[in-house]
Amino acid sequence: MANIGYIQVVRHCNHFCGFCSNPTTAYHHTFESMAALVDDLVGRGYFGVVLTGGEPTLHPELPRIAAYARERGLHVRMITNGTRLADEDFARALAEAGLALVHVSIYSVRPEVEARLRGAAGTLERAHAALENARRFGIEANVNCVINRLNADHLDENVRVLVARHPHVRHFVWNNLDPSMGRAEANQDLFVPRLADFELSLARALRLLHKSGRSFRVERVPLCYMTDYAWASTETRKIVKGEERVVHFLDAKQTVRQTDWEHVYGDACAPCSLREICGGLFDRGDAYDPAELAPVFVPMEPIVERIIGDPADPSYPLRTLAQWRPDFERRLVAAREAPPRARGEPPRDPSAPPVGLVTEESLRRFARARDADARRAARANVALEAVEAPPEER
Ligand code: SF4
Repeated sequence: MANIGYIQVVRHCNHFCGFCSNPTTAYHHTFESMAALVDDLVGRGYFGVVLTGGEPTLHPELPRIAAYARERGLHVRMITNGTRLADEDFARALAEAGLALVHVSIYSVRPEVEARLRGAAGTLERAHAALENARRFGIEANVNCVINRLNADHLDENVRVLVARHPHVRHFVWNNLDPSMGRAEANQDLFVPRLADFELSLARALRLLHKSGRSFRVERVPLCYMTDYAWASTETRKIVKGEERVVHFLDAKQTVRQTDWEHVYGDACAPCSLREICGGLFDRGDAYDPAELAPVFVPMEPIVERIIGDPADPSYPLRTLAQWRPDFERRLVAAREAPPRARGEPPRDPSAPPVGLVTEESLRRFARARDADARRAARANVALEAVEAPPEER
C-alpha cells in the first residue's frame, strides 16, 4: 500500500488564516523527536512522509530532517504556504536535502481574496515564486487549495491562472474546509461553504485539469458533488484500496491512525449506487448539512476499475474487479464488526513514540504567541481559537 504519513514539524505560522485547523500549540520538536517519528513511519512500512505544520519551513532543522527521512528511504514531501520557499537559497537547500515534492497552498489567484484568507498581504506573489523555485531546483510541485466560502465561486479561475503561469504543475489537491478544529471551528460562520456554493466551479476546475492531462485529488467532498470524477476522491480511493493514514499531530491528539474513511450519511444515501465507496458528508464540526446530499444512480464498477487499475499508482496489488471484490467484502465485514467509532473522536495510536516536547521555555513561547495571535486575529477580523488545556511539561 502506498501509505503516506504526516509529521507536523511546527505549529506556528507566518500567515494567519482565519480557518487554520492546526494553530500554535505549546509543543515543539527537536531534530531527535522528529527523527523518532520518521523511524516510526519507516517501521510501519510507509512509502513517504509529508512534512507539514503550521508552516514547516519555520523549523530551523527542516533541511536536516528532510535529509534524514530520505536516508531512511522515505519519499519526502512538504506542504507549505510558499513564503520561505520563494527564497532561492532556501529552495536550493531543501532540494539538496532530498525534498522530492512540494505542495504549495494557494486559495485564490485574486490577490485581495488571498490576502483576506491568509490574514496577510503580499503572500500570493511569494507562492508563485515558490512554484517557480521548485521548477528551477527540480522539486516536483503541486498546488493545494482549501475550498472555503470566499473562493468557492472561482476554483476554475484558480486553475486557469495557475496552469498558464506554471505549466510544470501537473497535480492539484482540493480539500474542502475541515471545520472541526482550531480557528476553522471558531470561524465557521465566515468560511465554511455550502456544498452547492462550489459544485459548479469545482466541476469546471476538474474538467479543465482533466482535459489538460493533469491529475487531481479531492478530499471531504461527497461523491454526489463530484460524480464525474469520483475516482479522484481521496476517501473513495482509500476505501477502495483499504489504505490508512498516520498523522503525528504536534498537540495533545498526538498520533492519529485513520483507517475508517466514512463520515456520515443522510437519508438520501440509502438508494445511492455509490454508497459503498463514498466517504459521505464530513461530520466533525457539525458545519455541513446532510440535506444537501442527493443520491446518484451511476455504476460503481467503472470507478473502482479506474482506481485499482491506475497505472500511476501500482501500489494496490489486486488489479481486476474479480480480485478486488472479495478483498473489499472482507474489509466491509471487519468494519461492521469493529466497535463503533466515537463520533468526532480521532482514532489515536498509542503505539507511536511521543510527538514533540513541552518545556518551560516552550510554554513561555506559547503564552507569548497567544498574545501575538490575539492581536493578529483582531487585525484580521476573525475569532481566535479556544486555548488548549496547557499540557504538562515532559
Ligand atoms: S448521496 Fe450519500 S452516498 Fe451518495 S454520493 Fe451523496 S453522500 Fe455519497
